[in-house]
Amino acid sequence: MKLPWKTRGIVLTSPLTDEIDDVIKLIDEYLAPCGFNLIFLQVRYRYQFKKHPEVWGYDPLSLDDIKRLLSVCRKNSIRLVPKMNLIGHQSGFPNEPTDGILHGHNTKECDIPDGLLRAYPGFDEQGDEKEINYARSICLSNRAAKAVVFELVDELMEAFEENTIHIGCDEAFNVGICPACSKKPKAELISSWINSINDHVRAKGGTVYMWGDRLLSTAETGYDEWEASKNGTEQARELLSRDITVCDWHYGKYDEYKSVEILGNAGFEIMVSPWRDISNAKRFLDYAVKHDKGHIKGLLVTTWCASGDLAKCILYGEKGRWQHTEEIATTLKELYSKL
Ligand SMILES: [Zn+2]
Repeated sequence: MKLPWKTRGIVLTSPLTDEIDDVIKLIDEYLAPCGFNLIFLQVRYRYQFKKHPEVWGYDPLSLDDIKRLLSVCRKNSIRLVPKMNLIGHQSGFPNEPTDGILHGHNTKECDIPDGLLRAYPGFDEQGDEKEINYARSICLSNRAAKAVVFELVDELMEAFEENTIHIGCDEAFNVGICPACSKKPKAELISSWINSINDHVRAKGGTVYMWGDRLLSTAETGYDEWEASKNGTEQARELLSRDITVCDWHYGKYDEYKSVEILGNAGFEIMVSPWRDISNAKRFLDYAVKHDKGHIKGLLVTTWCASGDLAKCILYGEKGRWQHTEEIATTLKELYSKL
């Protein structure tokens, strides 16, 4: 699919350590020839943080592993940028078979804390969890949490030799619930947390990328409660620094993707982020191209499967381990391949 934007990005999950070679091959022999020039590596806590080994996730990557990935990206003029989740998605359930990739789910049994909340249960926003509980959130009033988060951000950017980071912030359902947070408007909690991370990153000359769903309301867009907010967080849109790049992800089928205009009118540059359903991805991209007022920086394809699983599926024609991997591989091939 021909797209008018220079930036062609993809989100990959951090590879399992015994699949790093496969992912290096995927980058070198498939993604680079397809014209991808930006990779956000979804690290979560799967890195051997030196300052905070207590938060290490499953099968964490070493600094040397990151340097190997960096090397193949540089060889192919691809920018490799770290990605974390710095509000929601602090819990989930493992992919099947277990490979350390936590996914969303809305049943209680799947509520496994990720690195930060496992090490520091007191950082949990501890919502009432009656509706959606698979994605625990960090308490945005907790100063100790912020101090740890800043140190993790610094260490990760240093490892990637980067001044830029994607901070996630999608599907943050538990916001403004605990006694300290409930005294403040949700929009203010979210915007002051993100703006402070942004100030920190801007001071290093870099850019913060984040997902856009909490900056949109279900009422104004017609999106579902994953793709937009039902609890007033969209008011943070007016309070956020405009030098943050908002990644506008949509996976559902809609007649209009109004967020493209809403975020542009609010003064943000955006990335357009489809996923696995090929017709929905096409529909969203077509809409974005037609409604681009010069505010769209580029494409940011999402995957969410284990990157090694995707590599083996694409490179060797293996059957995907996760239920969605083969569809993701097919969409990648059919929509974005230049091969
Ligand atoms: Zn709180």
